[in-house]
Amino acid sequence: MIPRELHDLLLKQYGDAQTAAIEEGYAAERIVSFRYNPVRGKGDPAARLAERGIEARRAKWYADAYLVEGAREDALRETELYKNGEIYLQSLSSMLPPLYLSPAAGETVLDMTAAPGGKTTELYALSGGKALITACERDGVRFERLRYNLARQGAGRVTALKCDALALDDAFSFDKILLDAPCTGSGTLSPCKPTRFSESYLLRCAALQEKLLKKALRLLKKGGEMVYSTCSVLRQENEEILEKCLGSGAVLQPIEPLEGLPLLPSGAGTLCVCPTREYEGFFLAKIKKVE
Ligand code: SAM
Repeated sequence: MIPRELHDLLLKQYGDAQTAAIEEGYAAERIVSFRYNPVRGKGDPAARLAERGIEARRAKWYADAYLVEGAREDALRETELYKNGEIYLQSLSSMLPPLYLSPAAGETVLDMTAAPGGKTTELYALSGGKALITACERDGVRFERLRYNLARQGAGRVTALKCDALALDDAFSFDKILLDAPCTGSGTLSPCKPTRFSESYLLRCAALQEKLLKKALRLLKKGGEMVYSTCSVLRQENEEILEKCLGSGAVLQPIEPLEGLPLLPSGAGTLCVCPTREYEGFFLAKIKKVE
């Protein structure tokens, strides 16, 4: 069931045809996807899953991203690959922010709101384990999940901090920051998940997003880059947050869509992925600190 308040906001932002496409995406049974973890991996996961009768194919835009037809997550959880941390169950959309941030060896990287750690471990893998990553999470239970995933995925050199990112000392500074902000999840509605949405929840999320993005910009080095992302398709949590926080000191770095991404209209230089059978709805923007 799509909450009336969300439906009305979608209509106002996107009009009839695109709202219908988004709501069709919510209703679709999403294909299972996973990310291969080269830090732990022992080679070709598709061939090894095929031995167990599980058919996995590569996504177009990322060699480590796979889609699985006709199998449930539970079937993958029973495999050695999953148990050994060679694969991580992750939506395709949520693999995008680390790819656009592109961490390199030796760079200091802050993953500001990190649990359960899908993107932290991806950042780690993308840098060949050589970026100096700090992952911050304020919720105690989710922090333990983050630590568990870091250990299982072999991301041994990540510094995990159980703290409120807003309380980090401004004396810290980072070359790159990922702010995968807490949000209403308006891009991820699905028939198999309970939906939590209201206008007051949207306002609370937006207020926190604005604070977190302003904090991220203080923690970013001059010349440094960050990615702001949410799993929401609402401009109140996306473009409007950017409008409130960016100015002469920090500017958008326009990003190009990767091949085959189903896109919704979004602010110039940003990407908003439409929910479909393969993708969750997702927004991302890249920002450079210039002053
Ligand atoms: N990036 C994660 C991943 O890919 O696995 C998902 C992050 S989830 C969208 C947002 C997380 O931010 C939640 O775990 C939430 O507990 C955490 N969070 C919310 N406010 C925070 C804050 N002020 N400081 C640190 N973490 C916070």
